[in-house]
Amino acid sequence: MATTGVREYQNFIGGEWVDAASGETFESTSPADGETIGIFPKSGADDVDRAVTAAATAYEEWRLVPAPKRGELLFRFAQLLVEAKDELTELMTHEMGKVWAEAGGDVQEAIDMSYYMGGEGRRLFGQTTPSELRDKFQMSVRMPIGVIGVITPWNFPIAIPSWKIAPALVSGNTVVFKPARDTPALGQRFVELLDEAGVPKGVVNIVHGGGGAVGDRLVKHPDVPVITLTGSRETGVEVMRNAADGLKHIHLELGGKNAIIVMDDAELDLALDGILWSAFGTSGQRCTAASRVIVHQSRYDELAGKIVQRAESLRLGVGWDEETDVGPVINQAALDKIHSYVEIGQGEGAELLTGGEIASDGDLGKGFYYRPTVFGGVKPDMRIAQEEIFGPVLSLISVEDEAEAIRVSNGIRYGLSSSIFTRDVNRAFRAMRDLEAGITYINAGTIGAEVHLPFGGTKDTGNGHREAGQAALDVFTEWKSVYVDYSGTLQRAQIDNTDAATP
Ligand code: NAD
Repeated sequence: MATTGVREYQNFIGGEWVDAASGETFESTSPADGETIGIFPKSGADDVDRAVTAAATAYEEWRLVPAPKRGELLFRFAQLLVEAKDELTELMTHEMGKVWAEAGGDVQEAIDMSYYMGGEGRRLFGQTTPSELRDKFQMSVRMPIGVIGVITPWNFPIAIPSWKIAPALVSGNTVVFKPARDTPALGQRFVELLDEAGVPKGVVNIVHGGGGAVGDRLVKHPDVPVITLTGSRETGVEVMRNAADGLKHIHLELGGKNAIIVMDDAELDLALDGILWSAFGTSGQRCTAASRVIVHQSRYDELAGKIVQRAESLRLGVGWDEETDVGPVINQAALDKIHSYVEIGQGEGAELLTGGEIASDGDLGKGFYYRPTVFGGVKPDMRIAQEEIFGPVLSLISVEDEAEAIRVSNGIRYGLSSSIFTRDVNRAFRAMRDLEAGITYINAGTIGAEVHLPFGGTKDTGNGHREAGQAALDVFTEWKSVYVDYSGTLQRAQIDNTDAATP
């Protein structure tokens, strides 16, 4: 495709728009139709180093700006996102491929998060506690940490940067941001709007490029004490290993293999809606997508028939056409990976009920489209039921009872989202207790998180941190305990506390 007239983008370092030191570039192209979205600097270690220096310099002033003022800046940013919502939504349908409604939801999530974290500027609560000694005061306060390395995936190109950058900024940190190579234009617009909102020079910097060059340098840079990464399990392991020598704080949000349980007493049509939305929304490319349905044997045939019928009625196409139900997957490598898993599933003895093929008829041939795919007769230990495929592929697993359903749902390495459809309140509460996941939905699919509750997973989905809600602040702040002795004498804790009536 010709690139004449295509916009050329730059890195944003220390408040200046600059090319990569090497002068090299790469293109971002649309997964929907191959159109060129823009040309971006292919950055390297030099560019990261300059951005970190700018962020470290800016930190010395930014950390002293009162938190409510930092929050007000996020309110302004949120307002700019509101004004740019349609433009960003449209760009997302082109650059990432999401369908219109979902792209709008992605932007809305960033708006919600920016308002929410803006409010944290007037909270950022610590604790005060009584002292065991007289005339002594004590409290804990949240302190910023420094330069935060933000590394994001392509599947939520506006929302995920907001989950990281908004809490980082309100807490008083500065940021070097590396967006995914598949969605750099959206990362760039995010930073342009922060700049427009009035973020001081050097507080937010963007460096475009690949994980191996830009991401890796960020992870290993001695002046970057915190790395927050959302990506695959493999990348998470590599990042953690590479950051070990620097004893960095590593925040990881990784993969999922989420299941929806449908019990014998479930309202089937409601479950069906939840399954279709969770499995084929964003073409199955959500970390919280449902890729397994665990269904009571008494409802299996009925549910399988309905899922297949509905999956076959979904319209594939470009995201900017509001009639489209399912957009493209992100790139050729994703298409190849998804298709290879269909072959693996058939090889394992699962029954292909529908889909299982690349869709290339008419204009679909210009992009990366895969037919919504459903496997029946899947056994819990098959690879298609264990590994993250990250595409529109759903496995149906039949179980005998509730205990087996919970066991199968838990029987994977990941622990992000989970769901059960049942009308029995006791069963719902047992599931809430027993499902090993960071998120559990009752009578809803596996997607639908809101920004004011913690978001993240157990087991291999992460390393114990959470995004969103107040829990996110734990990633971007250090606790400091402060003791103020106003007695005018030396009082030794644990030794001079003779007031206590020791039992
Ligand atoms: P990815 O792991 O390929 O890339 C994620 C980011 O890491 C990209 O910016 C990439 O350039 C960078 N990167 C790659 N190697 C690196 C390295 N060695 N050092 C530093 N950075 C490096 O993931 P992806 O394909 O962009 O996204 C899909 C994955 O993300 C899926 O596994 C999905 O489940 C996961 N995800 C998780 C969540 C969550 O909140 N748990 C949300 C969305 C996506």
